[in-house]
Amino acid sequence: MSTQQKQHIIILGAGVIGLTTALVLQRSGKYQVLIVSEHKVSSPSLDSKVIKVDDFEFRDPTTVPALKMASPYSGSHWRAISTNTEEQLQKCELQTYNTFMSLVKSNPAIPVKIVEGNDIYTFENTSSTWHFDHMHDFSVIKPSELPKGIKMGVKYKTLIINSPQYLVWLFNEFTKLGGLFKQAKVNSLRQLELFVNKFGPSNLPVSQLTIINCSALGSAHLTDVKDRKMHPIRGQVVVVYAPQVNRTVTKIGGKFMRYVIPRGDGTVILGGTHLAHDYNSTPNDQTTEEILAETLELVPELILDHSLVDPKQKLAQIKKKVLAVKVGFRPARLGGTRLEHDKIYGYSGNTIKVIHNYGHNGYGVQSSWGYANMVYSMLQQSKL
Ligand SMILES: Cc1cc2nc3c(=O)[nH]c(=O)nc-3n(C[C@H](O)[C@H](O)[C@H](O)COP(=O)(O)OP(=O)(O)OC[C@H]3O[C@@H](n4cnc5c(N)ncnc54)[C@H](O)[C@@H]3O)c2cc1C
Repeated sequence: MSTQQKQHIIILGAGVIGLTTALVLQRSGKYQVLIVSEHKVSSPSLDSKVIKVDDFEFRDPTTVPALKMASPYSGSHWRAISTNTEEQLQKCELQTYNTFMSLVKSNPAIPVKIVEGNDIYTFENTSSTWHFDHMHDFSVIKPSELPKGIKMGVKYKTLIINSPQYLVWLFNEFTKLGGLFKQAKVNSLRQLELFVNKFGPSNLPVSQLTIINCSALGSAHLTDVKDRKMHPIRGQVVVVYAPQVNRTVTKIGGKFMRYVIPRGDGTVILGGTHLAHDYNSTPNDQTTEEILAETLELVPELILDHSLVDPKQKLAQIKKKVLAVKVGFRPARLGGTRLEHDKIYGYSGNTIKVIHNYGHNGYGVQSSWGYANMVYSMLQQSKL
C-alpha cells in the first residue's frame, strides 16, 4: 500500500501503551502513524551523572518527570493482575505474555528476558488463578519451601522487562518502519489536528484522521477528555546492583506488595508501595528502609555474604548497593482501563474519530501488546 493510500493515525503519548499501539498499527502496513508526545524516553547520555557500585557504572535512565510518564518507572515483570472474572484484561495479559515469549526468542537484542517467577501469597489465592494453566513450567511451591507467614506459592517462567531500555527499543522499531514522531504538548485532542501537515504532501482530509489517545494521566487534563476517574497510584522503588539475582519474587498480601525484579543488566528493582491519590514525588526514607529490609528477607541472595545473620548487618550490606530510589505513578482509572470509540469536533466543525486506550494502572507493560491488538481490531471492525 502506498503512503497516500494508508489511513492516517495520530497517537497521543509515547509511553509503553502509545509506542506498542503505534508499532502494531505501523507494522500492519495499513496505517501511517504519527506519535505526538510531550515526553519520550532516550538512552542516558554519556555525560550524565555516573553512580558507581563495585565496577558497575549506573547512569540514571529515569529522568522524565514521574507524574508525566509512568512507563520508565515501571519494574517491570509479567505477573497476572486480572482476576478470574476480568476477561478483557486476562486476554490482554495472556497475549502479551505469549508475544514477549516469542519476541525474546526472535529478537536477541530486545531488553526483555525469561526468568523464574515466584509469586507467594499470605492468603489462599482463589480469585486470580486463571493464568496457572497458561504459564510455561508452572508448579506449586511445596509448603515446606515457603517462607514463614506464607500460605501459598507458585513458580513459572516469567518475563522481566527493562522498561527504560525497552521504550527505546520500541521507539526504534517503530521509526525503522517509517513511523513518525513529533515532540509537543497539547491541551486537547482536537489540537492534534494541527499536526496533520507532519504526514507530508500525502495529506488526507482531516475527516479521515483517527486519533488514538494513549495519554494516561494526561487524560485528566485534556480539555475535551477531562477524565475525572483518572488518578495516580504512587509507587516507591529502590534500584540496587545485584547481578547474582536471577528470579523474581512477589509477596502478595500484607500492607504493601513486596517484589524483587532483576532487570537483566545487573540492576534489580525492589518495591514497593501503592498509595492512591498521593502526588508526592519525593522518596520517603522510612519506606526505603522497609523495602530494603523486607525484600532482603524474601530474597537472601540480594547480598553475597551469606555468613551474616544480624538483620542490621545485612541491611548495611544491601544499602551499599543502592543506585537510586525512585517514585513513579501508576495511571489508574476508577472502573478500569478506557478502551472505546469516541469522536470529537475539530476546529472547522468536522468530526474526528478517536479511540481511547488509557488507564492501565499497574499492568500497562504486561498487557501492552494485548491492548494494542484490541485497538487494531477496533480499527478493522469500524473499517477505518
Ligand atoms: C513503581 C511502578 C511499578 C510498575 N510495575 C509494573 C509491572 O511490573 N508490570 C506492568 O505491566 N506495569 C507496571 N507498572 C505500570 C506501568 O508502568 C503503567 O501501566 C504504564 O507505564 C502506563 O503506560 P502509558 O503509556 O499508558 O502511560 P505513560 O507511560 O504515563 O505515558 C503517557 C504518555 O502520554 C504523554 N502525554 C500525556 N499528556 C500529554 C499531553 N497533554 N500532550 C502531549 N503528550 C502527553 C506523556 O508525555 C507520555 O509520553 C508500574 C508502575 C509503577 C509506577
